[in-house]
Amino acid sequence: MARRCPECYAELPEDAVWVCPTCKYTLRTPAAAKAGIIFMVLGLALLGAFVFGPDQIGLRSGLVPTDLANVTIANFPLLVLGAFGIGAFLTAAAALKIRSEQARVSAA
Ligand SMILES: [Zn+2]
Repeated sequence: MARRCPECYAELPEDAVWVCPTCKYTLRTPAAAKAGIIFMVLGLALLGAFVFGPDQIGLRSGLVPTDLANVTIANFPLLVLGAFGIGAFLTAAAALKIRSEQARVSAA
């Protein structure tokens, strides 16, 4: 049975994985995009924790070894930037993947 686009109800060719060739509807969100969004949310949460104060999030409560807590607090801006960077990279990679298939199906 042929798959159909949920947006325009056109029949989908076998090689249409991410986008509908007829209306360019995004059929599936690549896992990389979802992971990217998770990392960006994580970065935002870390940023919030940083603004709130790394000392306030329980790092020095005794659950984490003091050395590790100090290293984490010292490198907090790096952690925030890292999480955002990974998130932005994954989202961009997923967007490029969709773009390239859009270009491919419109050229066909
Ligand atoms: Zn469609």
